[in-house]
Order: sequence, then C-alpha cells, then structure tokens
Amino acid sequence: MTRRTGLCLLALGAVFSARGAVPAAPELDVVKVRDNIYMLVGPAENTTVAFGTDGVMIVNTQSEAMAPKILAAVARLTDQPIRYIVNTDAHAANTAGNVIVTKAGKFIADRIESDSASIIAHENVLNRLSGVTGGDPPGERLGWPEDVYYKGWMDMHFNGEAIQIIHEPHAHTDGDSVVFFRGSDVIATGDLFAPGAYPVIDLERGGSFQGIIDALNRLIDLAVPDANEEGGTMIIPGHGRVTDEYDLVIYRDMLTIIRDRVRDLIHRGMSLEQVQAARPTRDYDGIYGSDAGPWTTRMFVAAVYRDLDRPAP
Ligand SMILES: [Zn+2]
Repeated sequence: MTRRTGLCLLALGAVFSARGAVPAAPELDVVKVRDNIYMLVGPAENTTVAFGTDGVMIVNTQSEAMAPKILAAVARLTDQPIRYIVNTDAHAANTAGNVIVTKAGKFIADRIESDSASIIAHENVLNRLSGVTGGDPPGERLGWPEDVYYKGWMDMHFNGEAIQIIHEPHAHTDGDSVVFFRGSDVIATGDLFAPGAYPVIDLERGGSFQGIIDALNRLIDLAVPDANEEGGTMIIPGHGRVTDEYDLVIYRDMLTIIRDRVRDLIHRGMSLEQVQAARPTRDYDGIYGSDAGPWTTRMFVAAVYRDLDRPAP
C-alpha cells in the first residue's frame, strides 16, 4: 500500500524544494468512483471531480504545479466547463491551485456566463485566504472563495442531484467542509479523514482532536452501507484510497481508543514527553504512523495531548 504521508501542511514545500529549480510535477492518478464522479490522486491530496449536463464541480485544487494536470484530467472526462470549486479547508495543498482552476472555468449567474468558476467555502477559509484572520499571508484575490457560507451548511442542486456542503466547526481546522453528493451517494471528506495516516490536527487554525472524532461520527451517520457492511456510500478522503463506511468506523474507533489512552495518561499526571515515551499509538503505528515527513506520529501525539490537556472552551 502506498502510504500518503505528504500531508497538506507542508506539501508545497516538498514540491518546490529548491527555489529556481522546480521539479516536474508528479503524475495525477485518475480513479473512477461513480459514473459521474472521479477522484484525482495527487502527491499530497485528492481532488474530487463531479460532472454532468450543468457542468463540473471540483473539490480542492491541490498545488499550482498540479492544477494544470487537474484541468487536463477534467478535459479528458468531459467537455463541460468547470462551474464550481469547493475548498474543504484553507491549506495551500487544497487551495494553491484555485487561481489556475478558476480561470479555466465559467460560472453562470442570472443567465450571464462569467470568465471564472465560483469558489465555495466556509467563511473561515475566506478569512484565512484573504489575510483577515492573521497569521497567514493573503493569497491572490482571484483564488479567494466568493461564495461563502456562515452557518452549518449550504446546499444546492447541480447536475440533477442535491449537494450538501457541511461545516465541521472544529475538526482538522475551523473551516472544514465535507461535500455530500446525495444522488451519487458519495462524500468528499477533506483532510479530517485519511485512511492511511493519522489526521492532521491543526490546532493553530482552530482544529480539535475531539472535533475530528465528532465529525467522523456525523459522517458515519450520513453514510449507508450496502450488504455485509461493505460498499454503499463511497467516501473520498482528503488523501489516501477511496473507502466506504466500514473504513470510517475503523478509523473513528482507532482515534477514540487513542483519545481514551492519552486522556488516561494525562489524568495520571504525565507530561507530553512521558506520554510520547509510553507510545499510546504503538499498535496502530504500522498502519497510520510515520517517523518522517510533515506529520509524524510524535507530532500527532503531541497535538492529541495538547488538545485534551487544554481547558474546555
Ligand atoms: Zn488541510
């Protein structure tokens, strides 16, 4: 199994490792999920492509280097224009391709076709990409989401199916969206789920370990399995392979067990260093762990510890 540990926080740094010497972008794997929904597998993140007679919706645009490859892959699937981009969080690995992809699209409002696709996200994503939140420098204006939602979700009808874009308030970040294609029965989860890696808990940007578990529980409620608890609703994770509800349950259970172990160690008065030395993730590290790269097991345990050790809001 290919372990995708090149997570979104530092993926751009890995792609542009040396200024002035930009290596060729890796290839994009194209995986069919349903007749009208595909997953494009980049070096760090997945992109979801949904298309039909109304046009194309893209969930996450990866890096500037990968965006032209996304456009080429979409053109091979359909000759319809890109109408919508959804960003499931503000990280560069999901949004740095926005400008290139939106310029290639055409949005329709009041029967007038504009010369760029509409970018949808929770308002916290706009606040980060525009620099309002502080901490992150603003990105290029054309790449900012303009179709933002403020409450728990937004919904729309596109290509003959209902699509719900649901906010998970404090999970991987504070601006996470999951995208539920109700007719196709496919959910794009964003980075709060990665079947081959521990989730990145971006505490600096409003993330929460318990919030990730809560979000997984809501996803499990949304997903409906087929016979023998297999198949049914297809799950496109932020990175890693396509899964179903069963994999969500396995992942939720793993995180819940780790939460209970770390909480117990905290209650015994252990410091972070002592908890890391106790290796509360030991039996899962073969599947999800990493000793190198942008998100190591030590970093994951540290984020779990800090999140559980802080006072409840
Ligand atoms: Zn992310």
